[in-house]
Amino acid sequence: MVRNAAICKVSERLALVPDRTCGSCNVCCVVSKIDEPALQKLPGCRCRNALSNGACAIYAARPETCRGFFCGWRLLSWVDERLRPDHAAVFIRLTKDEKLVLGPHQFALMVTVLSREGLNAPGLAETIIAAIGERIDTYLVVPGPPGYTSCRKWINAALGEAVKRKDAMALGKLLREQYAEAVTKLDQTRPVILTASA
Ligand code: SF4
Ligand code: SF4
Repeated sequence: MVRNAAICKVSERLALVPDRTCGSCNVCCVVSKIDEPALQKLPGCRCRNALSNGACAIYAARPETCRGFFCGWRLLSWVDERLRPDHAAVFIRLTKDEKLVLGPHQFALMVTVLSREGLNAPGLAETIIAAIGERIDTYLVVPGPPGYTSCRKWINAALGEAVKRKDAMALGKLLREQYAEAVTKLDQTRPVILTASA
């Protein structure tokens, strides 16, 4: 199996969801930042090693950052089957960043909407209902321009009532509102500075 890669040590302790493979997806090889001597890559910029069929040209020698990374779609069975990142324009990842993990879990969920169409991705509302229903800190992320930081919003409280009612339609409406608010902050994004020396 050819597998692609990128960032996050949370994945080391979780089993992969059976029957989900990366296939031709390599969204994480575009979205993620890599900043280590072996490879430096800005977020939003396609890795020079990412091939059009989803494979990695240096798979056997890929950098540490890429090893062991799987997105939320690969790791969490309750992330809807239809949300493969290259199909859904939604990229879900886990983070253990202690500034972001506020509740009872070991990780928070970062839901990056890659384009406005992603807001309507089938299964997105149900996945967010499942996450917030379990009190997983969930953030809506809007990417900045390539090479720039992103905007994020913690959405647990704002979507809480719709989650309680399991009302996917109401949740979708609230999510669009949260997205619109996050977009207004895109002018506050700043260039990402890579620090590892090559
Ligand atoms: S984003 Fe997920 S499905 Fe796509 S290549 Fe990365 S790990 Fe695989
Ligand atoms: S080195 Fe390979 S696995 Fe890592 S980001 Fe680039 S293409 Fe993806």
